[in-house]
Amino acid sequence: MIENLPDGFNSVAQLRDLLDAVPELGLHLDIGHANLLVDENTTDEILETYGGRLQHVHMHDNKGGSSDLHLPLGAGTIETEYYVRALQDAGFDGTITLEVFTPDKRYLEYSRDVLRRVWDDCEKIRTAKIQHTEKFEPSSVKTQGAVV
Ligand SMILES: [Zn+2]
Repeated sequence: MIENLPDGFNSVAQLRDLLDAVPELGLHLDIGHANLLVDENTTDEILETYGGRLQHVHMHDNKGGSSDLHLPLGAGTIETEYYVRALQDAGFDGTITLEVFTPDKRYLEYSRDVLRRVWDDCEKIRTAKIQHTEKFEPSSVKTQGAVV
């Protein structure tokens, strides 16, 4: 498993050589790192290309630029909800490690609570959309039944 790092190993173009050469190598996505030394957070492009190989996620916040601040969620410029949705869209349902560097554990607990709430909210919306879709597409269900 490899983790993306700012400054040289943080985009599809930079990760491609290694990930394409070693197909069994898993991806460890650090969404905080993906926000550093780039014009735009690279999480979307990494998930689009390698989302199926995602095995672990690190989350923490920062303000872009070059400082890997490892802030509590919501304290920087990374939109937690947007990236939680992106992870769920990629089919990820594994472990997320919060890399919040602080001597005060309450910042970590706060980040955990934010992540749990946002994850559950996004999941509820996703489930509601799926049920809505199934409910209003009975013809596709019938077609499947006829094939069987
Ligand atoms: Zn990390």
